Amino acid sequence: MSGDSVDTTPPSTMHSTQALRRLLARARTIMAGPGEAEDRLERITHIIAAELVAEVCSIYVRRAGDMLELYATQGLKSDAIHNTRLRMGEGLVGDIAAHARPLALSDAQNHPNFAYRPETGEELFYSLMGVPAVRGGRVVGVLVVQNRTQRHYTDEEVETLETVAMVVAEMVAGGELVDQSELTPVDGIGSKPLRLEGLRLHSGIGLGVAVLHQPLYRVDQVVADDPVQEHQRLNDAYAEMHGALQDMMETSAFEEAGEHRDIMEAYRMIASDAGWLEKLHTAIDSGLTAEAAVERVQNDLKTRMSQVADPYIRERIHDIEDLGIRLMRYLCGDGDQRTEDLPMHVVLVARTLGPAQLFDYDVSRLRALVLEEGSPTSHAAIVARALDIPVVAHVKEAVDRIEQGDAVVVDGDAARVFVRPGEDIQQTFKDALKARTVQARKYDALRELPARTLDGVDVTLSINAGLLVDLRRMHETGANGIGLYRTEVPFMVRPEFPNVDEQEIIYREILDGADGKPVVFRTLDVGGDKVLPYWEPGEEENPAMGWRSIRISLDRPAMLRQQLRALVRASAGRELRVMFPMIAQVSEFLAAKTLLEMELSRHHERGLVAPTRVTTGSMLEVPALAFQLKALLRHSDFVSVGSNDLMQFLFASDRGNARLAGRYDTLAPSVLSFLRAVVLECEEAEKPVSLCGEMAGYPIDAMALIGIGFRNLSLVPSSIGPVKAMIRSLELRSLEQYMRSISDMDHRSFREMLRGFAQDHKVEI
Ligand code: PEP
Ligand code: MG
Repeated sequence: MSGDSVDTTPPSTMHSTQALRRLLARARTIMAGPGEAEDRLERITHIIAAELVAEVCSIYVRRAGDMLELYATQGLKSDAIHNTRLRMGEGLVGDIAAHARPLALSDAQNHPNFAYRPETGEELFYSLMGVPAVRGGRVVGVLVVQNRTQRHYTDEEVETLETVAMVVAEMVAGGELVDQSELTPVDGIGSKPLRLEGLRLHSGIGLGVAVLHQPLYRVDQVVADDPVQEHQRLNDAYAEMHGALQDMMETSAFEEAGEHRDIMEAYRMIASDAGWLEKLHTAIDSGLTAEAAVERVQNDLKTRMSQVADPYIRERIHDIEDLGIRLMRYLCGDGDQRTEDLPMHVVLVARTLGPAQLFDYDVSRLRALVLEEGSPTSHAAIVARALDIPVVAHVKEAVDRIEQGDAVVVDGDAARVFVRPGEDIQQTFKDALKARTVQARKYDALRELPARTLDGVDVTLSINAGLLVDLRRMHETGANGIGLYRTEVPFMVRPEFPNVDEQEIIYREILDGADGKPVVFRTLDVGGDKVLPYWEPGEEENPAMGWRSIRISLDRPAMLRQQLRALVRASAGRELRVMFPMIAQVSEFLAAKTLLEMELSRHHERGLVAPTRVTTGSMLEVPALAFQLKALLRHSDFVSVGSNDLMQFLFASDRGNARLAGRYDTLAPSVLSFLRAVVLECEEAEKPVSLCGEMAGYPIDAMALIGIGFRNLSLVPSSIGPVKAMIRSLELRSLEQYMRSISDMDHRSFREMLRGFAQDHKVEI
């Protein structure tokens, strides 16, 4: 892992391990001792204030309605107890609770979130340090210390307060301070239906029964009786977890799926990270039990995560977090999740999901995934997509609001989750699912039939691929081949840059799996929205138009040459098709092609078996290239239009900006006339042209593309059936005639007119 942003070194020796252990022991004695709960809480504020040399120590407890109530204080006015209340997110205390992260401020009063409460008399205190008290992943209170001077609290002091906060959390959870019913979120079992929104990571519909991925582990004992025993328990659980991960990699689920193995390797690497284990041991040294140590380190990670902007680092921290939960399972003696108790249709609900964790379940029962976090490049999302399970991520408080056993409907297309839905909603989605299954069967029946229009024109339909499992989809759908193999995808799921030998294996597996069907390998297209874990190209003002794709490859020719070498080697005795991305001018294409020729000569000089034929093509996704197409076609064997990027550059409209989504249409007159000109130019040069952007996967768009002359489309595998059905119901002659008749119109888009044409002519769109 890229070391410098994630601190995996053992934590500091804390605010003196000895002192902390003493403080913990005293806190625990008070907690377990005689007296009213609130008196004991107050005594705890005294010892914390004394130990941390603070004038104030206060404890806020979370109450029903997400209010934080002052329960005990040393140093603030005692009238404020039970009177001072803050909402989650309100003031500094609310901020700490809402984000579940500590704050250490030398000038708290000038912080924008400072909320002054006159009844407390806190205007006298300048500096503030506060930490959340977390129990089972839920904030149950906040501990605060304050000082009159502008004090700089150290990390060690923050850690000390966090550790004591665990004891306080245990006390709150004990139910002596607030009623037990206040400790569970309001949307509990049996409460009303909910509709949650999130971010679509993979489309589709899934119905099932909620299975909460991580039963929230209760740490029953925070302070250890015998530290030696706790170290031993940690080591045993750790060894058991490692063994289980190893076993999992050897199970059949991983056999055919090369990338799953890579993901697991990355996961295991993190599991072996000595820094992580050492952190846990250090936490035990401070007086905690093994379980409390895991929780302590987990909380610490969560805090760090909230401060890291880099998505890759965040994902890796997630992976460590997942490992913590797994370790906790072994400590609690639960071992691996049991599959036999699972419902037949599972909607898995998790805060975040590590790559191995999906395989804790019988994947044949998984119907959908609901995550509180997760990003398109997270390992779990990549695997779920490969398994074709709908995924909705960024669903706020999903784990708190969905209960084990709830009926859940996941609408991946609209990124919605219906929890405990009414009969009507369930029925609607059941019907939709049934209709999809019927459709899917119908598409299956088309598998062996050609994509031929009613008037006998054949269209080549290939798939866009990136993972090994996509090959299976290519065969299942009866696609003609792989029109776009995105080589960056296997790079994205690996822990480090694959060397030539490793790349050769990947490409050979793809070619073997394609079983003679053509595969177009697109060279590395990174930068912009495609981030490689181990590659940090640096901040860019405008990454989509920045140093990306072929620009990087030409500036770092060794990297491109290695890739081309691997491709040449993997293609020994068969045809090699290479395509270069983001070509903006012919000279770039020629420079890239020269590198390929150098690799071919090198290969030849070594007397190795050469590819039977080598063809090179260019992506057309930068408009400038269209004005040099004649020249390009003198050198390139084929062209493939990347409409995703092309659209954003044609309209100067960021493809990832939600506010611009839908503003410009792929069926706008300008787009179609641009594409028509490209097709004509390619026809004249007698060079094949295809289109491999997302638009090719929408039947109505595909219809328009065929109408302006495209005969080669490359699309997501799930669209092969629908697009083929459209083609087989289309009479091309009438469409061409119709499109000619409307080409000069000044409409914003031809979409509605084309929809009308399809309806009138019974074209299945
Ligand atoms: C495109 O831009 O249309 C394309 C196919 O490339 P990618 O989506 O991988 O950028
Ligand atoms: Mg592109």
